[in-house]
Order: sequence, then structure tokens, then C-alpha cells
Amino acid sequence: MLFDTHAHVTFSQFDDDRSEVIARARAAGLRGWLEVGTDVAASKQAIALAEQEEGVIASVGVHPSDIAGLTDAAWEELSLLLTNERVRAVGEVGLDYYHTPPDLPSEQDGLRAAGRGDVRELQLSTLKRFHKLALQHDLPMIFHIRDGDTVSANDDVLEWLESLSSDKVPRGVMHTFSGSPEQAQRYLALGLYLSFSGVITFKNAGANRIVAENMPLDRILIETDSPFLAPEPYRGKQNEPAYVALVAQKIASVRSMPVAELANATTDNAQRLFSFG
Ligand SMILES: [Zn+2]
Repeated sequence: MLFDTHAHVTFSQFDDDRSEVIARARAAGLRGWLEVGTDVAASKQAIALAEQEEGVIASVGVHPSDIAGLTDAAWEELSLLLTNERVRAVGEVGLDYYHTPPDLPSEQDGLRAAGRGDVRELQLSTLKRFHKLALQHDLPMIFHIRDGDTVSANDDVLEWLESLSSDKVPRGVMHTFSGSPEQAQRYLALGLYLSFSGVITFKNAGANRIVAENMPLDRILIETDSPFLAPEPYRGKQNEPAYVALVAQKIASVRSMPVAELANATTDNAQRLFSFG
């Protein structure tokens, strides 16, 4: 049985064929997926889908490129949404210096919302606020961490996480892990899980494959990030949860183990981290 730990099936890209996409996910052997919130509205939609679809759980969060202008009312709403019983994580939250480069003036960068101050400071302070909510609600976190061209988001988040006292280190997962093997070791030492997406099937993802090959099996998660990051041979096309099977196949092959065993282990890991099933 497979479980996709990161998908956005409520996104408009699926408006024309959502029920077929869900049927194909079932046919591919998925017992479910985690529908990830990226802002207040998407988090509400994720919960609605989780309430209606067997095996689907939800998370509540705001993508780091969409955090500017989060009002007190929005924070209150997020906090309330976190009490829903279908919600099993805070996320996706984190640092994205690729879409929102901290080293460019605001007119030139990709920030999709208005009213930013210092991007790096705002992203980290917002992440800390989500961390407080995660501890308060006893929920794991889904981290979206993406390096910029000149500034490493992985270095920044590791520096912060490693500064926390051990009772404050969150449970959680690095979604579409994109760091180095050395950074992987540091996340694992903090007790975090690493999740691999279709990126691991790409030609230039050698570092990803080295990490997936050598890390402990009981910390690996798999995901699609649908509708983004479709694995080979569908790279560049619209992704969907059924393709998590291709991610599982790739990791099983680099670890030289049966794909069924990898599928079961990663589903067990997801159940343990997100407390379902
Ligand atoms: Zn996502």
C-alpha cells in the first residue's frame, strides 16, 4: 500500500478531472494522501476534501512565498482550523529563497503578495509562529525549504532548529528534500523525516539519490507534490498522486530492495508521523 504525503488535489489544475485523478490514485494502490494547505483558503479546501474522501488527511499552513500580509484574523482562523480532527500537520510552512529571493529588491523578486519587509526575517519569524502553533496543537510540521541562488534556506532553518532545546524541536518532514547529504544527516539527527518526490527521478538529482540510498528506511517518506514535479517519464506534465508509485520504484531501485517493502515501510512511516490508520 502506498501513501502520498504531499499533494494538492484541490488545486484548480484538477478542476476538469478531479474524480478521475482520485480513481487513478485508488487503482494505483494508494490508501490515501495528505492534502496540503498553502494558504487559509487552500487549507479549508484541504479539510473539506479530507472530510469527504476515504484515507485523505489534511494539513493547515501558508506557503512561505504567500505569507506577506497575514492578518491577526488570518492567524486566528488558522489556529481554529488546526483543531479539526482531519488535520494531522502544520504545513506547508518554511523558507523559500528561490521564489522569494532575499537578496533582490522587492520589485524584482517573485513574492506573490504585497507588503513585505525583509523577506528573510519575515519568513523566519512566520515559521517560528507556525512552530509555536505546532507545539501547542501537538502536530508535526511539513517544511517547505528551498535555497536561493546565493542564500541557503536549508542552512538558515538548520541553524534555527539546532538552536532549539530538545523539547522544542518539532516532529516533522522536509518535503521534497533538496539539501546536501551533510544537511540530510543534520535533519536526521534532529529526528526529522525526509520526503522524496518526482525530483529523485530527474537526471540531475544525484545528491537526492545518494541520500535516499543511505538513510535509515524508517525515516523515508514519499510524495508527489501534485500537480507539480511529475516524475520521469512524465516530467513537465501535470503530476497526480498515482505517480507516487514511480517515486517508490526509484527509491526501491537505488536501495536494491523490493518495491512492495519500500511502499509498506514508507506508509508505516507516514502513519507514525501523522498519526492515522
Ligand atoms: Zn506543496
